[in-house]
Amino acid sequence: MTQLPLRAQLASALGRSAATLSRMTGRGDGSVIGGRVGLMLEPDLLRQLARDRKLALVSATNGKTTTTRLITSALLEVGEVATNVFGANMPAGHVSALSQHKDAPYGVLEVDEKYLPEVLDTTGAGVVCLMNLSRDQMDRAAEIWLLAQKWRRALSGKPTHVIANCDDPLVTWGASTAAKVTWVSGGQRWKEDSWCCPECGGPLDRKDADWACRECTFHRPEPQWVLDDDAVVDPRGQRWLLDIQLPGLANRSNAVMALAVAEAFDLPVERALPRLREVTSVAGRYTTVEREGRQARLLLAKNPAGWLEAFDVADPQLPIILSVNAQGPDGRDTSWLWDVDYRILRGRPVFVTGERRLDLALRLDVADVPFAVCETFSEALAMQPPGRVDVIANYTAFQQIRSEFGRAV
Ligand SMILES: [Zn+2]
Repeated sequence: MTQLPLRAQLASALGRSAATLSRMTGRGDGSVIGGRVGLMLEPDLLRQLARDRKLALVSATNGKTTTTRLITSALLEVGEVATNVFGANMPAGHVSALSQHKDAPYGVLEVDEKYLPEVLDTTGAGVVCLMNLSRDQMDRAAEIWLLAQKWRRALSGKPTHVIANCDDPLVTWGASTAAKVTWVSGGQRWKEDSWCCPECGGPLDRKDADWACRECTFHRPEPQWVLDDDAVVDPRGQRWLLDIQLPGLANRSNAVMALAVAEAFDLPVERALPRLREVTSVAGRYTTVEREGRQARLLLAKNPAGWLEAFDVADPQLPIILSVNAQGPDGRDTSWLWDVDYRILRGRPVFVTGERRLDLALRLDVADVPFAVCETFSEALAMQPPGRVDVIANYTAFQQIRSEFGRAV
């Protein structure tokens, strides 16, 4: 790789020192502050750090952290990979990730949906992976449509190879200005934000996975990769049992996206798939923590689509603890709770906690789901019989539980 210019080298090194200092003083993992320091000293640092690397950007409303991890795991098969492992998914986090692995020939970066155009312009990434778009807390359909439109503009006229989930109409629309697209049928759990054609506003007709606009020519492209229950069919028609350790349909979909991205880097399924199977948890998600004979499995759900995915993973035979906060990263307004159908929880013991437990309690009451309210997560856990329990928490609630158990990975 070519040497960074002196100013960029210095900015990168000082950013790394700031990150180390921040870690040593117990202020988190330091990746954001380190990147900010670097960018302050050299505003062009991200472009310079990205140069000469093979980069994949991963964006979606849900699953981007996990998919970033899966792709990284696969690419480690062919070389060193720089990645924003802590989910710091804006430019400062990207600077930090690339700066920490100066010589890595590969980079896999999780990118916040809103920052994708900027990060793509800056890094000139060769591969972009797009999975799903749905409302996140207070976003509404019009806002995510605008987001998809920005993706279209950003991809247009670039040589980028896009790997996109064609089961999501909005993602399909957002990706379809790209010069090269590999379409993946990865499934779509949450359909509430895509009943209308993004091209003309007409109604979308759906039949199984297929969809098409009733009023214009916009329709689902033919996928090259297809998720078929617990297996994937590759572009040559060969069927592979996924057999990954991460639970649930959403993760099998993430794995198929990762395999398609790996192939874009010339890494074949037979070499990538064993690497995906090594991933057991991602930044605490799906980890089981134990206290006094209770094994609690931690599931993160940040928005309505995420709750559906978590319900799919949760064991219907087990009690379940739900924890909801409404701090900055969660969205301060909890009205999104009304977008989630909680009736699936009927019949299991349900415990609610978190700062906004009463909002959640009201929502469950209206859905006719019996529950017990607990002041704290510890109290909710102590109320369980010994054995397994599932926990679904939104962002800051999840991080609080995780740190109670020593930042469980
Ligand atoms: Zn249409």
